[in-house]
Amino acid sequence: MTTRERNLWLYPRGLKDLPFTERLCSKCRKIKDVSEFYFVPSSSMAISSKCKECMRSYYRNKVKHCYKRVPDDTLVQCVDCKKIRPAKMYYRDKYKKHGILNHCKYCHSKRVNLK
Ligand SMILES: [Zn+2]
Ligand SMILES: [Zn+2]
Repeated sequence: MTTRERNLWLYPRGLKDLPFTERLCSKCRKIKDVSEFYFVPSSSMAISSKCKECMRSYYRNKVKHCYKRVPDDTLVQCVDCKKIRPAKMYYRDKYKKHGILNHCKYCHSKRVNLK
């Protein structure tokens, strides 16, 4: 194998250059055409291990999880002042479990001022 051939194998320009036409999806375990996978030049196979369908449902679930937020009137105890306040008194944080910070807006401003 020449260097050029090796580079082509490692860094194909696109799906049409792949040395195979079908791939097993690691999620749904179905063998699908490479066009059913995303092209990922950085991965070892140059295409995603999950098919497009599985990737889409994966991201959909992830996004849903991120934006799940408790309703405004839910009572939440602040970890700083230990007071129980409605959720609207907390800043939003989509990556937190309840979609809000675990300390209230008052304590948040205190934290920021301390910095
Ligand atoms: Zn799949
Ligand atoms: Zn507080």
